[in-house]
Amino acid sequence: MFSSTMHTIQNYINGALVEAVDKKYLDNIDPATGKIYSYLPDSDAQDVQLAVEAATAAFPEWSAMKVEKRSFILMRIADLIDRDLEALALAESTDQGKPVKLAASVDIPRASANMRFFAMGIEHFASEAHLTGHEAINYTSRTPIGVVGCISPWNLPLYLFTWKIAPALAAGCTVIAKPSELTPMTAFLFSKLCMEAGLPKGVLNIVHGLGPKVGQAIVEHTNIPAISFTGGTVTGKRIAATAAPMFKKLSLELGGKNPNIIFADCDFEQALSTSIHSSFSNQGEICLCGSRMFVERSLYDRFVAEFVKRTQALTIGDPLEEKTRIGAVNSEAHMRKILSYIDLAKQEGGTILCGGKQVTVPGRCAEGYFIEPTIIAGLSYDCRTNQEEIFGPVVTITPFDTEEEVLLYANSTLYGLSATLWTENLKRAHRMAAQLKSGIVWVNCWLFRDLRTPFGGMKQSGVGREGGWEALRFFTEAKNVCIKL
Ligand code: NAD
Repeated sequence: MFSSTMHTIQNYINGALVEAVDKKYLDNIDPATGKIYSYLPDSDAQDVQLAVEAATAAFPEWSAMKVEKRSFILMRIADLIDRDLEALALAESTDQGKPVKLAASVDIPRASANMRFFAMGIEHFASEAHLTGHEAINYTSRTPIGVVGCISPWNLPLYLFTWKIAPALAAGCTVIAKPSELTPMTAFLFSKLCMEAGLPKGVLNIVHGLGPKVGQAIVEHTNIPAISFTGGTVTGKRIAATAAPMFKKLSLELGGKNPNIIFADCDFEQALSTSIHSSFSNQGEICLCGSRMFVERSLYDRFVAEFVKRTQALTIGDPLEEKTRIGAVNSEAHMRKILSYIDLAKQEGGTILCGGKQVTVPGRCAEGYFIEPTIIAGLSYDCRTNQEEIFGPVVTITPFDTEEEVLLYANSTLYGLSATLWTENLKRAHRMAAQLKSGIVWVNCWLFRDLRTPFGGMKQSGVGREGGWEALRFFTEAKNVCIKL
């Protein structure tokens, strides 16, 4: 299904794999080798138009299809993802630079879980009824909103792609999806699985290409009433500026600069080992990574010494090797951006405790984009390094003395996606969780997700919530029917 030989990716429109109308292609680079390994369609508004026409034609039948049958098809897709787990993990790793082991244990299983979760969820989705005394009955009917746009980023390619399209399809919408141009391969393989699973033509359409061309055309299209977007905050602002005057429904899942707060009364080993994951998993390219660590002063020296030691022991290398813990960052431009932030941290007075440099991995990855996991101390909480999203294997570490102080630090950014707390003091955990401005607070864990819970960010980390009923509701339109008794 997938090998590392050259591939030509195609759009998936009206049930068929097709070239872009203009027959133009973009290079797709393997970040671990720095070499082109496939080509993707450089689509534009013409391709989006064809996709919208197909999705519009497919909508009446798909939205009216018995829920059991829709659910069955989505379950079948989930089964096919499981069947092709290894090939999909290899594709995800080659596209993004992440260790293949991580893709096989997290990304791809979660992609099939997303399909399965919403396929089951739609069978239990209910609408409400309200009795207004003896005078009236109100009931809410929720119907699929129509043709929707789903735009996803490069950091967890198939995981986030399916997180968006699964609830949309389950709810009965037809979809125009755009994966990131930097990681198109798994979505392409996914389109083949949809064909094999018998998804009716036009129900899902995948248009590959650049954000300002394909993404913008989706957001601007007058026949698309809802947009679900995950990506950077700057892009989110642009999408909101286009979509808001068109009164589109919007779900925006954006950037983060998440605090990881460690109190002296924590379970030291658990806090330490999980903080290694929450700082450097996927090269720190997870929106939920804890990039700002705050450690209570009485524990600070002990924690930092051990944290640095374990970080230095992480194996940086070829993502395809079993022992690799830190793979390549996603692109050369992204590598340069991360390195420029490390320079900025030095200018701002930071001390690099470990890492800080580009790494050359010998052999086939010699031209790849690798950066050492980096820990920076000695910065003020309000400097740029501590306020702006870096999105790489870089964390800052800062001591604190009181809850009030660390809350000030934690809540000081424009972002509010996630926060992690380490303490064995239950009252403190509740007190802090209530005051942290973030969409999710993890206490003594990280990245533990129950797909039924609302997911999303506060402040500039986003608008709206995904997950569970929230996602299914997003893709439906509510109508109240009031019957006078
Ligand atoms: P990005 O904003 O550059 O791109 C995301 C997607 O939007 C891509 O498919 C891109 O092609 C498209 N796009 C770009 N310009 C567009 C436009 N004008 N109109 C429509 N679409 C457009 O983000 P990225 O670099 O791919 O992803 C990294 C960012 O995503 C980070 O900021 C990260 O925090 C964030 N992220 C957030 C979450 C979350 O759940 N909140 C999850 C993962 C990633």
